[in-house]
Amino acid sequence: MTDKVHVIGGGLAGSEAAWQLAQKGVPVVLHEMRPVRPTEAHKTDALAELVCSNSFRSDDWETNAVGLLHEEMRRAGSLIMTAADRNKLPAGGALAVDRDAFAGGVTAALAAHASIEIERGEIAGLPPTDWDSVIVATGPLTSPALARAVQSHTGEAELAFFDAIAPIVHFETIDMDICWRQSRYDKVGPGGSGADYINCPLDKDQYDAFIDALLAAEKTAFKDFESTPYFEGCLPIEVMAERGRDTLRYGPMKPVGLTEPHRPDVKPYAVVQLRQDNALGTLWNMVGFQTKLRHGEQVRVFHMIPGLGHAEFARLGGLHRNTFLNSPKLLDESLRLKADPRLRFAGQITGVEGYVESAAIGLLAGRFAAAERLGLSASPPPPTTALGALLAHITGGHVSADEGTARSFQPMNVNFGLFPPISVPRQPRGKGPRSGKSFERKRAMANRALADLDRWLSTPTSVAAE
Ligand SMILES: Cc1cc2nc3c(=O)[nH]c(=O)nc-3n(C[C@H](O)[C@H](O)[C@H](O)COP(=O)(O)OP(=O)(O)OC[C@H]3O[C@@H](n4cnc5c(N)ncnc54)[C@H](O)[C@@H]3O)c2cc1C
Repeated sequence: MTDKVHVIGGGLAGSEAAWQLAQKGVPVVLHEMRPVRPTEAHKTDALAELVCSNSFRSDDWETNAVGLLHEEMRRAGSLIMTAADRNKLPAGGALAVDRDAFAGGVTAALAAHASIEIERGEIAGLPPTDWDSVIVATGPLTSPALARAVQSHTGEAELAFFDAIAPIVHFETIDMDICWRQSRYDKVGPGGSGADYINCPLDKDQYDAFIDALLAAEKTAFKDFESTPYFEGCLPIEVMAERGRDTLRYGPMKPVGLTEPHRPDVKPYAVVQLRQDNALGTLWNMVGFQTKLRHGEQVRVFHMIPGLGHAEFARLGGLHRNTFLNSPKLLDESLRLKADPRLRFAGQITGVEGYVESAAIGLLAGRFAAAERLGLSASPPPPTTALGALLAHITGGHVSADEGTARSFQPMNVNFGLFPPISVPRQPRGKGPRSGKSFERKRAMANRALADLDRWLSTPTSVAAE
């Protein structure tokens, strides 16, 4: 008889992981601490409870990366997607669900599965050593006792308790007639070229207008359990601006060591810098621009920055209570802790963001653990798929992993900027969102993804060499 795999956490990721294991015939014990021990956000004892919105976001696989992820998960036999489809509510192009019926459906399916045992109770430290295959899927609100144990196992700096997210911009939407590439003082540094940053220059009037807009913009509030999250090293830019009009000019927007090639005689008054965020070079983050501004306000205010007037954001900034690993450094490509491979991680704790992404990483962790238990080798999904692109982001695609400084790693939703680029023929100008080059490019990426996914799913896993 096959030995059991233990899954800790019965949220979006843990429920999906347990299902994938059980469907491959591997017995599972799923440990969920609720209702014995609650979290600050969950309200029920159901598995896969949705803690806030009831939306799985866009269901359009042709033009939206999360819609594509839905479709890939459906093809891979996802329990979360089956329950979502069965309990969907009218919501335009989005997939919204009846949250109680959804969570009830997941809980009932797992409870009824012959290969799954559900144990209610907190795992309050590292799992016992005789559990030789474990998936930790305890989410953004991992209980403190387990979080502390993981932290001392991985190293103090490798588990974060807040995310501090600066906005990330699609490269192709930055106006390079205004911006230029240069590192401060042309420093080459480890793995650099001396031209590693994209710089957006502001004159005094533009800077003053930007500061005024920042101070007046609407902010989001912290939840009760998110008290005092500010660390001096990652203050929101609006808090810096409140401390003095010049604080940003002496902080993340300092103009020193930079010369504008288009106008070498003009000294910029302030500069916003963007740093490459993924190995593909398709995504760039705004350095030091973590913020609690409302999302709509971020778009409005950041469009005032010269060169970002038409920027499209792969993600907007935020600051939240979270628990996530420095995954590019710690995890191998099958989500195992490199230093202790009996432990695999899944869900938001790996540095993905969102219900669907968390469940998707649960799906992969479950399949990888099942293959390992059955003595098979399982290759990761191709990076051209949404599943593969997301996995590559957390296990190595993030650019600073190569520099050995993956501490800048921050959680991310799936988006087309994570996919390898694709070229499409020039398009005639069309009207509406479903025409033009951007639409054709997304559609080409989505078609490539599904073809590659089908090939990956139909490849028989082979018996491992050892
Ligand atoms: C307040 C809040 C609001 C959010 N809102 C949204 C939103 O609207 N939309 C969205 O897409 N994403 C949202 N997220 C982000 C995220 O996608 C969800 O939190 C998602 O549920 C993460 O899935 P997960 O499986 O990783 O974690 P969870 O779904 O949180 O599951 C983790 C499970 O592990 C259990 N657990 C924790 N510690 C232990 C332990 N030691 N032993 C046993 N069990 C344990 C918990 O009880 C929980 O059931 C939100 C996050 C938070 C914190």
